[in-house]
Amino acid sequence: MLLQISPRQITPGPRSRRHSGLVPVLAKLRSWTRPASALASSTPSESQKQLWQTAEAICFDVDSTLCIDESIDELATYLGVGHEVAEATARAMQGDAKFEDSLRIRLALMQPSMDQVQRFLDSHPAQLSPGVAELILRLQQRGTRVFLVSGGFRAIIHPIAKSLSIPLDHVYANTILFKEDGTYSGFDEGEHTSRSGGKHSAAVSIKADHGCRRLVMIGDGATDLEARQPGGADMFIGYGGVTERPKIAAAADWYVRSFLPLTDSL
Ligand SMILES: [Mg+2]
Repeated sequence: MLLQISPRQITPGPRSRRHSGLVPVLAKLRSWTRPASALASSTPSESQKQLWQTAEAICFDVDSTLCIDESIDELATYLGVGHEVAEATARAMQGDAKFEDSLRIRLALMQPSMDQVQRFLDSHPAQLSPGVAELILRLQQRGTRVFLVSGGFRAIIHPIAKSLSIPLDHVYANTILFKEDGTYSGFDEGEHTSRSGGKHSAAVSIKADHGCRRLVMIGDGATDLEARQPGGADMFIGYGGVTERPKIAAAADWYVRSFLPLTDSL
């Protein structure tokens, strides 16, 4: 029998000291990006601004967007396989691997047990990006539905969603599976975000499942940009507040380095 970790089983622990050391390959990965000051924010057109103000669904990427770190890399470092997993992540970012294959390889390297995930959560509480909680609250007060769409893990994201009053059926992310004794078993291949193009698939599903006509995706990476395909996100807002990626900045409908312009435009 396979066990799925539930948000009741995994709860965030007290804030404590975070990892300070980065493995060398992460530095290499960072070198493919530019410092946050290298690119300017863009100004939206009136129609883009109107879409931002009237969209029924706003979807946030989690790693390096909602939060300031990459949770899979953090978990891997915690488990002592940071170098190997960062290399697999780097290969995936270069487009050398399908997302599902990369996820399988990274999880096979980590083999996280239920206890290890719980201890990781206890010692690594999520760190939200500046201003994002205020933006989400404003959206919720307006009646706009907020979703989290991530290639990361529900076990890590559910506590964050709860802290932001985001319903768990508004979370589209990956599920780690555990055996009955709590050891690692695999991941749920039925999750939209477990596959390449998964964020577009999630956006299509959100529109259908939640009755939303206009959907905006906010994120920092190529998988977020993929959501901006016919039937999926109607607008892609690139976020460069954590890491700037020139290709994402160039392709985004609207590019910001802070959540403040988005809050101010509501
Ligand atoms: Mg991201």
